[in-house]
Amino acid sequence: MKYIIVTGGVMSGLGKGITAASIGRILKNKGFSLTAIKIDPYINIDAGTMNPYQHGEVFVLKDGAEVDLDLGNYERFLDIELTGDHNITTGKVYQTVIEKERRGDYLGKTVQIIPHITNEIKERIRRVAKRSLADICIIEVGGTVGDIESMPFLEAMRQMHSEEKEEDIAFVHVTLVPLDTQGEQKTKPTQHSVKELRSLGLQPDAIVARCREPLHQDTKSKIALFCDVPVKAVISAHDAKDIYCVPSMMEKEGLSDYLMDKLRLTAKEATHEWNELMKKMDGIDKEIRIAIVGKYAHLGDSYISINEALKHAGVECGCHVKIYRLEAEEFEKNPELVDSLKNYDGILVPGGFGARGTEGKILAIKYARENNIPYLGLCLGMQLAVIEFSRNVLEFRDANSSELAKTEHPVIDLLPEQEKVKNLGGTMRLGNSEAILTQGSLASRLYGGTHLVERHRHRYEVNPKYIPQIEAKGMKFTGRSDHRMEIAEIPEHKFFFSSQFHPEFRSRPGKPSPPFLAFVKAALG
Ligand code: GLN
Repeated sequence: MKYIIVTGGVMSGLGKGITAASIGRILKNKGFSLTAIKIDPYINIDAGTMNPYQHGEVFVLKDGAEVDLDLGNYERFLDIELTGDHNITTGKVYQTVIEKERRGDYLGKTVQIIPHITNEIKERIRRVAKRSLADICIIEVGGTVGDIESMPFLEAMRQMHSEEKEEDIAFVHVTLVPLDTQGEQKTKPTQHSVKELRSLGLQPDAIVARCREPLHQDTKSKIALFCDVPVKAVISAHDAKDIYCVPSMMEKEGLSDYLMDKLRLTAKEATHEWNELMKKMDGIDKEIRIAIVGKYAHLGDSYISINEALKHAGVECGCHVKIYRLEAEEFEKNPELVDSLKNYDGILVPGGFGARGTEGKILAIKYARENNIPYLGLCLGMQLAVIEFSRNVLEFRDANSSELAKTEHPVIDLLPEQEKVKNLGGTMRLGNSEAILTQGSLASRLYGGTHLVERHRHRYEVNPKYIPQIEAKGMKFTGRSDHRMEIAEIPEHKFFFSSQFHPEFRSRPGKPSPPFLAFVKAALG
């Protein structure tokens, strides 16, 4: 097993995750199989209980683990499926060590950060890496070097460095090269953060420097000199027009050759999918406008997987998908604003929790339905479509979800068998599960068959009591998993498709998710 450890310096938000995923991709392009581990030094066990203000999107893996959005980047860049143990948090590590201590596993010893916590970290990494059967494991250490929280993890990496063979482990440090007011590229922050890293006993093999513009040769030389790496190991990671261009940039900078050299790897059979993707992206000549009506409209990170899934579908159709994030509450305050939705080629309502903004989303769905504008509803976006239909077509004026309000007509409800445990995360339906699709439906055309597997993250379901009445009026449940409704579509409509699952999580560059692809095609007209 070869390990590539990616650390970050200077400040957070440099795109360390994208860098790590891109390093993985350039090596995958050389024929190696890759896996990835993300270390999050926070105390939460997982990201499931964090709200988007804190943490951006919560990504859901096939086994139902709710994890950091970087895992989504790894899945998309590397075209792999990961599981919850690929996300290591301080909470998980301490929980295990404390459980072991209570069981008496440490035989009366004093349990300490070194060696017990660091051993647990190393064991987890090695176990997950080995089990993946990959050639190379990328490990991204979250946070910035110097943070208190990340210390035990960096110490564990230092120990791994001395335990593994020199050719089995490489360190890549991601830093920032800012421009001063004169436009000069400044290397001091990089020098300082490498110094910090060294004080922890770690020496980077390569430095990836984020900069607004390509690094000058003398900037590279200076970093090489001060940080004690070869000039060819200083990689310019300047702003790219799209995150999917980053791997090609790193390849041009020579990073894959450098790392293969360091890890004594010889390229296997090269793959060309990524180049083909780049060609398709270059060939884009059309544009569509999609409105995402949600909460958190101002937070770019809150719907990353949806943005990416729209992009994947757009690239396939040769069009740029211009995304407009609209705040649903604005429609509640100002219902005439809903009419502005006529300016978009498609309307999307994403998943969500809690009542805030739901009435505004319902207004948007009504507009899409009545004006034959392509509609894609995801999770809450399907539940609200069922509510809107029940209110305005079945004329159950107070129809609602029992999550959102008290109502005579809970068309969305907890199923009786669902325990009402008050442990957050305890009652959610999470991860991959199957659905059976109605022959001849839009759903079965999109998925090319009568069966699908997609990821879930929700508690509430369509109330089976109302299904016959809803279907009689023209909304059809064409995907089912036993008595759970997975898809609601309106066959009369130009394109009205909504799902209880989250198709965005399985979309990949070059392999767009079927509902997204069909939605973008419908929006193109
Ligand atoms: N809040 C809804 C539920 O729990 C929808 C969840 C979601 O959109 N992810 O069922």
